[in-house]
Parts: sequence; C-alpha cells; structure tokens
Amino acid sequence: MENRKIYLDHAATTAVDPRVLNKMLPYFTEVYGNANSQHFYGRASAKAVDEARDTIADCIGAKPSEIYITSGGTEADNWVLRGVCSMHDGGHVIVSSIEHAAMLSTAKELEKKGYEFTYLPVDEYGMVNPEDVKKAIRPDTILVAVMYANNEVGTIQPIEEIVQICKERKVPVFTDAVQAMGVIDIDVSRLGVDMMSFSAHKFGGPKGIGALYIRTGVRIDRLISGGHQERTRRGGTTNVAGMVGFAEALKIAKAERTENVKKTTALRDHFISRVLAEIPDVKLNGHPTQRLCGNADFSFRYIEGESILFRLDFAGIAVSSGSACSSGSLDPSHVLLAMGLPEELAHGSIRFSFGAENTMEEVDYVVDSLKEIISSLRAMSPLFHA
Ligand code: PLP
Repeated sequence: MENRKIYLDHAATTAVDPRVLNKMLPYFTEVYGNANSQHFYGRASAKAVDEARDTIADCIGAKPSEIYITSGGTEADNWVLRGVCSMHDGGHVIVSSIEHAAMLSTAKELEKKGYEFTYLPVDEYGMVNPEDVKKAIRPDTILVAVMYANNEVGTIQPIEEIVQICKERKVPVFTDAVQAMGVIDIDVSRLGVDMMSFSAHKFGGPKGIGALYIRTGVRIDRLISGGHQERTRRGGTTNVAGMVGFAEALKIAKAERTENVKKTTALRDHFISRVLAEIPDVKLNGHPTQRLCGNADFSFRYIEGESILFRLDFAGIAVSSGSACSSGSLDPSHVLLAMGLPEELAHGSIRFSFGAENTMEEVDYVVDSLKEIISSLRAMSPLFHA
C-alpha cells in the first residue's frame, strides 16, 4: 500500500490557513493584554477585538453589536435553546429532527425541565418541508430552530421560506450555519433570521471559537455569567488571537468562495459519479442538488460504516462514519433514520467531505481504494450473497 495521506473530512474540521495563523501569532506573544484591561496592553487587544468583530459582522451583513463570540458552534447552539427557554416559564419549541447533537441533546435536557418540543420530520433527502413548520407553530411556540445545512448528508434547507413563515407568525427563528458558513453566501439581514451560530474551524480558522448572531431586540438570557465581556452577555476573558483568526478566516473564505466552491464541487461530483457507476449496491444519501459543495455521503449495503472507515484509514484516507461521529457511539445515524433509511443502511454510511485543496488525482485514488475495500469486505460479509 502506498504511504500517502488524503484528508476527506473537512466537515469535521479544517486546517488553519497559514495566512490566518500568521495574523494570529502576534496576539500570543506581543499583543497579549487582556482586552478588558485599562492600560495600553489592554487597549491594543481591545482594538484587535473591535476590528475582528467589525469584520465578522460585515461578512454576514450584521451589526457588530449583534455578534457574540463563543467557544464554538456547540456553545452557541446551547445558548440559543437554553437562553430562549430561560426567558419563558415553559413553552413549545420546534426543532428539526436532523439537528446536530449540540441541539438535540440540549433539547432532551430541556424536555425534562418541562419545555415541550416538536421534532420536524424530513423527507428522503433530509429536507424539512416549510409547510410542516407552519403546521407545527402554536400560540405558545417560543422558538423555531432549523439548521442551514446538515453536517452528515449536506442537505441545504429551504431556510428563506422557513424564516418567512416564522416572521409572519412572529416566532423567533434560529439557524445553525456551522456547516454552511464559508461555502454559502449568508447575509443575515437579507435572510431575516433572528439568531445564527457559526464556528471558525470549519472554514480555515482556529478551533474553540465561534459566534452567535443575535438580532437586536431578540429576547435571550445569558448562558455563561461572569465578567462584562460581550456586552455582559457572555463572561470569560476574550480569546483575542482566536477572534483575530476567526475574522481573517471568514474574510478569506468570503473572498475566495466562488473559486473554492467551483473547485470543490467538481471534485465532489467526479467522486459521486465514479462511485455510483463503479460500486454496486450503494446509495447516495442527501439531496441530489441542494447539498453542500464538499459533501458526498454514501451507504454501502451489507457492510458496517466503521469497517470501511478503518480500512480507508489504513489506506491513508481520512473520512467519517455517520454513526460514530457524534459521540463515538455505534448507534445508527439519527439523520439517516429520520430520512427513512433502514437501520442496516444507516449503519453502513460514510461521509466524504472535500475541500478546495484536494485534487482530482486524490479523488481517483480514493475511488480505486474504495472499490477494493468494498469488494473485500463484502466477500467476508455474511449478509452479502454475490
Ligand atoms: N453544528 C453543526 C451543524 C456542526 O457540524 C458542528 C460541528 O461539527 C457543531 C454544531 C459544533 O460546532 P463546534 O465544533 O464549533 O462546537
């Protein structure tokens, strides 16, 4: 086996862009003051924080005062659900059934505290029907949460229509844009969404930093109390270097989006067409057209996703399996089950997620390796009778 490494797990995380890292470095050793300190070290950091917030706001069409920095997507998702619920003494929340675990596990905890949840169904492509949102809204609905694009199967939701319905019914609406940010042009004023989460490490920024956009006037309680950071709404010493990197990564992703999306789509489409043509008994999960440019998610009949993942790993190819990515558990993917896939297929799924730095030559190498791996695993599978 050739000794090479191919990274096809960009939906899990991305490498920090060297331009981003360079921009961050001085904020570890030179401009290291606490951004809240009342001296020149502090002022230098505060200036960097203000500029980073302006850039982030500008990239998504928000006001700087509407950007709240968090430790990432998970914290922002938790903040939305817990923060909105905490403003109400009980109430009804609508979430899609294919949200990230950051939302769904928080929803389960809030259910135990007496909040009522409706989990919206999805169709066979993982798409929420806006009509179902309309039907689910009740007089006591306090929040609707539908992710912009799904992390497993890449399906992009009809978020504009969903936002429209919520606005007509005067219900606050949130979207988790962690997977969409960087590859889709998102302007919160045009979209009209009330809250949105995003995370820097998905588009060439550092891990452990993200943001919650909160439209002015939206009623939401704090998640983390402490100092006066983030206009007293999120305590904790500001991660200055992280914010600088976050802003730079977002600016670069926006400037280079058209080119990167074109390149990534071509790689992904070549991969999908070769897999469908050359590997039997395989199912492409997710929407045929309304999907993230880097996502290709397949179920391989008669084999467990984990065994494919391990063999690919051995061949130097890094991917994710739908079932294990959330918690290291071997449960079938909740997304695929919600899409109506039988358990057997929901267990056999692998997510390949491409980035603009991948090459066609890598894609061909992966398909060739995958063909060998699938046929060798099927030869050993008691379920497969060729
Ligand atoms: N939401 C979605 C859709 C994600 O894909 C992820 C990460 O995989 C998260 C939230 C969590 O983001 P973070 O890793 O920044 O906590």
